[in-house]
Amino acid sequence: MPALGRIDLHTHSSASDGTEPPAALVREAADAGLAAVALTDHDTTAGWAEAFEAARGTGLEVLPGVELSTQLDGASVHILGYLVDPDDPPLRALMDELRSERLHRAEAMVGRIGRDYDLTWDDVLAQTSPGATVGRPHIADALVAKGYVPDRSAAFGSILHWRGGYYQPHRAPDPLVGVRLLREAGGVPVVAHPGSRGPEGLMTDARIRALVDAGLAGVEVDHRDNPPRARERWRDIAERFDLIRTGSSDYHGAGKPNRLGENTTDPEQFARIVELGTGALPFPG
Ligand code: AMP
Ligand code: FE
Ligand code: FE
Ligand code: ZN
Repeated sequence: MPALGRIDLHTHSSASDGTEPPAALVREAADAGLAAVALTDHDTTAGWAEAFEAARGTGLEVLPGVELSTQLDGASVHILGYLVDPDDPPLRALMDELRSERLHRAEAMVGRIGRDYDLTWDDVLAQTSPGATVGRPHIADALVAKGYVPDRSAAFGSILHWRGGYYQPHRAPDPLVGVRLLREAGGVPVVAHPGSRGPEGLMTDARIRALVDAGLAGVEVDHRDNPPRARERWRDIAERFDLIRTGSSDYHGAGKPNRLGENTTDPEQFARIVELGTGALPFPG
């Protein structure tokens, strides 16, 4: 049965860089009257079990997912993977590697920031749930706790900005590798917020064709980081390559202005995802 009602397919919990534990996020989605929500933490599936448990009896459908970090021409490209098998060995190995890359990169950034500000790695750990995928948002929280900036957005606009003097990228595989792995793990790969990163023209038709051949199934058209022109372009690309079109909030809890359900996915598009994914079941299954 496709969920009827509002569907939000991109959210983050404290298992990565969201501010709310998975259970709180699910309760908020149910209270907001959503029909379905996807939990898509960066490079981890650790929040799924708690999210499923919290959804029990609420009528809210939870689509388990992950947001995989990849890189193209030095620009960060995020690939959402729905209904992946969380125990698929190659996917697990890549997620483990990405989390450890992110950890070392965050430590290196904190080392640089620590030369100019009173900030230590312990300050960042104090802002991070055990086992969480560490990112700039946790460094931002430590800077907020120290009183250097009022909130995460201010930190991203200054000290943590990629031109802020302390930025360092983390290593990540080519999107082709990410898409293939997600698909081989039974998942449904969808390019996240394609209009938000990298130079325009990063995703040429030839590159999109190669991603589709590797198993790319969809694109996140409606997302606040996609400017109107990018949405037009990606709607057209979705049509030409027969890709699933999604719309989502990319909710991160209190740390980002994105609100749950601010962009949504059509039930028919959601049904295509559920049909295609074989690595896990939505909850309730
Ligand atoms: P990183 O992946 O470590 O480079 O950090 C970027 C991540 O921070 C992305 O997933 C963003 O969605 C997230 N983020 C959370 N809060 C904010 C914010 N207020 N401004 C910008 N990015 C944010
Ligand atoms: Fe994030
Ligand atoms: Fe993302
Ligand atoms: Zn995200």
